Amino acid sequence: MDWIDLRSDTVTLPSPAMREAMARAEVGDDVYGEDPTVNALQQRLAGDLGFEAGLFVPSGTQSNLLALMSHCQRGDEYIVGMDAHTYKYEGGGAAVLGSIQPQPLPQAADGTLPLDAVERAVKPDDAHYARTRLLCLENTWHGRALPQEYLAAARALCDRRGLALHLDGARLFNAAVSQGATARTIARHFDSVSVCLSKGLGAPVGSVLLGAGSLIEKARRLRKMAGGGMRQAGILAAAGQYALDHNVARLADDHARAARLADGLRDLPDLEVTAQHTNMVFIDAPAERLQALKAHMDQARVRLSIGYTPSIRMVLHMDVDDPGVQRTIDALQAFFL
Ligand SMILES: *Cc1c(COP(=O)(O)O)cnc(C)c1O
Repeated sequence: MDWIDLRSDTVTLPSPAMREAMARAEVGDDVYGEDPTVNALQQRLAGDLGFEAGLFVPSGTQSNLLALMSHCQRGDEYIVGMDAHTYKYEGGGAAVLGSIQPQPLPQAADGTLPLDAVERAVKPDDAHYARTRLLCLENTWHGRALPQEYLAAARALCDRRGLALHLDGARLFNAAVSQGATARTIARHFDSVSVCLSKGLGAPVGSVLLGAGSLIEKARRLRKMAGGGMRQAGILAAAGQYALDHNVARLADDHARAARLADGLRDLPDLEVTAQHTNMVFIDAPAERLQALKAHMDQARVRLSIGYTPSIRMVLHMDVDDPGVQRTIDALQAFFL
């Protein structure tokens, strides 16, 4: 029996057709700017999302780091959610490598950073303070697509207070598909956007940072410094192109399966579905049953990220089909009923 892996949408494997596109890719030395497939991917995403330029990078972590370091200088500050990836899950890179001070703020339950709190966190121009330069948002956040009116209000605040606005859009296309909007409609509020190709879009590697030409030129220099200047990277960019051609609209299938999975679990004793948005389902199980649950799910060949807290995140992606969803529901019912 095949494993069903619900730990993350990063676990997707490149399909035979994607591998074929990678094998056929025209390549050159991208550090010289001579890889036609990388150039095409960067231009395509810049065009689609409404930016002057794009930069292909190995990971979303590097993409966000380059964005933060391109917007901010040593001694500057960025405002960010306490549970945001760019604050909590990137090894403190902005502080460690960029000498940029984070100003974390608690996120509201809907994933937004309350704008009155953001406004209060902007420092006056005074030698006591770091210079507040940037607001950083994440969309989707724990699967939630941020409301479009909120993005417009965040943009207005940044304009009023002279801040730049960056989006960690690792799952931007999930947000767009779930809102029936184009990715460009979401991206237009931001000065820079980072998009992951290696999450639900199913590419093996890669993210793209989008922004103004001058910002991307700074990011290109920083990418080299960070060791992210790759050579015949078109092999990887071709997977990204294939993903954009074939795997965007189908994200709706993952969202529908996440909703079905949540529905199948709602009435179980001892298990609480705490949230379901886009391709993610969050459940709580009693802490004292987690070990047994893990053993039971391993037996059923369903991989869940069960850690030390009662909250378990399940993520749908292209390598989990309808029978996979049913098998997961059945296995959880067998345990909890
Ligand atoms: C996955 C992810 C990233 C970047 O991840 P990499 O693993 O470095 O590619 C950034 N932000 C969010 C919200 C993510 O989920």
